[in-house]
Amino acid sequence: MRMADKADVLVIGGGVVGLCAAYFLRRAGRDVTVLTRDPVGAGASAGNAGMIVPSHVVPLAAPGVIAQGLRWLAHPESPFHIKPRADAALARWLFTFRRHCTEAHVARAAPILRDLSLASVALFEEMQNDLGDFGFEQTGLLMLYHTEKGRKENLRAAALAEDAGLAVERLDADAVRALEPGLRTPVGGAVLYRQDGRVAPDRFLHRLAEALRARGVALREGVAVTGFERRGDRLTGARTTAGFVEAESVVIAAGAWSGRLAKAAGVRLPVQPAKGYSLTLPAPHGGPRLPMILTDEKTTVTPMRGRIRFAGTLALAGFDPSVDARRAAPIRRLARRYVPDASEDDLDRAGVWSGFRPCSPDGLPLLGRSPRHANLFFATGHGMMGVTLAPVTGQLLAELLAGSVPSLPLAPLAPERFG
Ligand SMILES: Cc1cc2nc3c(=O)[nH]c(=O)nc-3n(C[C@H](O)[C@H](O)[C@H](O)COP(=O)(O)OP(=O)(O)OC[C@H]3O[C@@H](n4cnc5c(N)ncnc54)[C@H](O)[C@@H]3O)c2cc1C
Repeated sequence: MRMADKADVLVIGGGVVGLCAAYFLRRAGRDVTVLTRDPVGAGASAGNAGMIVPSHVVPLAAPGVIAQGLRWLAHPESPFHIKPRADAALARWLFTFRRHCTEAHVARAAPILRDLSLASVALFEEMQNDLGDFGFEQTGLLMLYHTEKGRKENLRAAALAEDAGLAVERLDADAVRALEPGLRTPVGGAVLYRQDGRVAPDRFLHRLAEALRARGVALREGVAVTGFERRGDRLTGARTTAGFVEAESVVIAAGAWSGRLAKAAGVRLPVQPAKGYSLTLPAPHGGPRLPMILTDEKTTVTPMRGRIRFAGTLALAGFDPSVDARRAAPIRRLARRYVPDASEDDLDRAGVWSGFRPCSPDGLPLLGRSPRHANLFFATGHGMMGVTLAPVTGQLLAELLAGSVPSLPLAPLAPERFG
């Protein structure tokens, strides 16, 4: 006999997006159950770079990305990689991605991403007051360059961000060193984005999980959803590894796995897993204070109060969590530069973490109601900005489920926008 269970809102996924959805839904007075296959803190949401980035107004799908990607394909240590394979969903995704690599798409996406991430920054502030310290600080972020190509790209991106109304400062090498004495990598100059910041992502997740439990949310770890049952245009609930869970409304916030779950509900949702790596060490004495992106190398450095995290790579290689030593080598070298006391053994012990970014083909989230169901909602596709956009995603979902006018337009994020 099936174990009967009932939820008002069933959220699938215990990453940062699922937990923020649960937080805002609970705040709006809903009874919420969260089911998550992996324990909180196991997915992409814990080991990421923790940068809160209103600066990222240029979506992943942008002009030049395809050409650069193709140039990198042949290099074993390059930050971008596609594992060649016969996969119809990947081929469709790449085709749609390519279609969006235009100036017109960037111009349309920039104000959308800006509004979403600035709204999130305000919510981070509010949530930290409510949940207790999780390392959120609007520190500002440095985008560093040392090549001529890097300089040009950064100045172009800075102009775009400025046009979008963001606070941008262009710094020469001396000004960068004065601002960030802990710098240990070559610098020709940088752009400082003052509205950016960082969190300690694992601490954020645990604060959220703690608060959700204390506020009556049923947060069930180790329970995977395997399918759905449906009556007319409504889902009646989810089949899970712990039995059937009946639900009035269902939110799929399962990160890179959301496409699989959508398929089980009969909806095509274009989400590709894009694997990335990180390595975390105790912070060195006199280390950097600000989060930094080394734009020529496409690697990041995030000081996280007592720890320092190095991250990078984007591999469209399916759901293979293994760490390719060659592609992780630049991150290890970066770690050795910033933590010179760390030995190779220390780096081995720290280990390279891998996680999957849930990427949509136009670089905007997939957020909204299912085109085929009255009570199914999607919250995914945040790609490289899932932590940044999680609070605003949660808030918009809560508004959507309440039937109120959303505080930001949802049409550009509609899950069915690719047809
Ligand atoms: C190296 C790296 C660096 C990054 N840096 C940043 C950064 O600096 N700033 C930023 O904003 N973003 C960053 N990101 C992106 C960010 O980490 C992701 O966008 C975000 O974590 C996605 O969160 P999520 O909740 O959607 O997915 P996840 O954290 O992957 O969570 C998905 C959850 O769904 C659950 N699940 C899956 N299938 C099922 C099922 N069938 N049943 C039940 N549960 C299921 C999983 O167990 C998991 O808990 C980075 C990512 C990587 C990889």
